[in-house]
Amino acid sequence: MTIKSTYYPHKSSQDLRASLVLFRLLSFPFIVRIAFVFWRFITFFRFPIAPFIRFTGYYQFCAGKDVATCTSITTRMASFRVKSVLDYANEHALSESDFDQNLEVILETIRVAATNDAYPFAVLKPTAIGSFTLFEKKTLGFELSDVELAAWKRIKNRLESCAALAAQSEIVLMIDAEESWIQSGVDALILPLMKRYNKENVVVAITLQFYLKDTLNKYMTLCQNAQGYFLGVKFVRGAYMEKERKRANILRLESPVCNTKMQTDKQFRQALEFALQHLKKQLCIVATHNEADIQWVKETCKQKDISLQDKNLWFSQLYGMRDYISFSLAAEGAHVFKYVPFGPLRQSIPYLMRRAIENSSVKSQTEKERKMLKQELVSRKINA
Ligand SMILES: Cc1cc2nc3c(=O)[nH]c(=O)nc-3n(C[C@H](O)[C@H](O)[C@H](O)COP(=O)(O)OP(=O)(O)OC[C@H]3O[C@@H](n4cnc5c(N)ncnc54)[C@H](O)[C@@H]3O)c2cc1C
Repeated sequence: MTIKSTYYPHKSSQDLRASLVLFRLLSFPFIVRIAFVFWRFITFFRFPIAPFIRFTGYYQFCAGKDVATCTSITTRMASFRVKSVLDYANEHALSESDFDQNLEVILETIRVAATNDAYPFAVLKPTAIGSFTLFEKKTLGFELSDVELAAWKRIKNRLESCAALAAQSEIVLMIDAEESWIQSGVDALILPLMKRYNKENVVVAITLQFYLKDTLNKYMTLCQNAQGYFLGVKFVRGAYMEKERKRANILRLESPVCNTKMQTDKQFRQALEFALQHLKKQLCIVATHNEADIQWVKETCKQKDISLQDKNLWFSQLYGMRDYISFSLAAEGAHVFKYVPFGPLRQSIPYLMRRAIENSSVKSQTEKERKMLKQELVSRKINA
């Protein structure tokens, strides 16, 4: 009997067993809590962490310490039609020198993408290249001091240099979405770049978070306004729900997040349905781990006679998560890329912590991941 496996073709059986152990551990919340104490301890005391790297989940969720070390993994994934976007995992940029250093790394990812088909996209997180407080002040409409105006201009220049290099390199630069209370400040910089650079094809793509109550309206307005240029949108539900609700609660504001998951799901699909019917005019990146959504997109494409292989339709998942979705989609001919985080271990710890929380809180997904890993191992044994 031959079982054709398309779930984890990029992983050795040893890697699969390691992933299986890790996802098993992540299904125990108390182990995740111990891991947090361990990570905090080694971070606080600046303990040498290289000897413990195997036990941190780093190899599951990060591809390497720098751009060069990611190449072997991304090349291997590309051989199975799964492309990558290199995502620099530095979540603690505070100073101008941090922002400049991050800019250099992001520019490096764009340069690499220019010459390597494995990377059709690059990505940038606004607060990696500019002050959170400044984005917030802009969003809230505060007047900026001269010093702040100069810092704002530097953020603008950093973004401009990334967009210009992306255009020259013929790749798409995605801008991640973060907290809602900095988003208008971010939009003030991104929207003019989309108008300017997306005239012939998409160079700059925005991220829309559909857990926010007004995002469907925002999306429709963006579509209406996109006259004479192409729209590029990464569709996500949103990653900061607890934080958004907590802030709204403290400030006694109405929460910007949909009251129920069902409302979020509804907006997400309504927007996607519109995007799927306008692929001639816009790039649609379906960034989700939700299998029901993926199935729904596939069915919608079939019903509406839209090619799953349309060059403007992409699917995306995070590296090390739901690989079975990514590789099955790619095997069906869809365009897929993984968000591939990289960076030194110490710097990647906040990112690893977020992945641990996400995987341990959505139990059904972690169980499914384990089931698929086991299935892959069994099928390899049968076919050996
Ligand atoms: C490739 C990729 C790129 C991403 N980029 C970004 C980004 O730039 N910015 C960003 O914020 N996130 C980003 N995310 C994360 C994303 O927003 C989701 O947090 C994550 O993918 C989980 O949602 P889901 O659609 O995969 O799955 P699901 O498990 O179906 O959805 C979980 C999500 O639903 C929403 N939700 C859950 N409960 C409720 C509730 N009670 N009421 C209302 N809504 C609820 C939340 O957004 C939660 O994260 C990205 C994800 C991927 C895969």
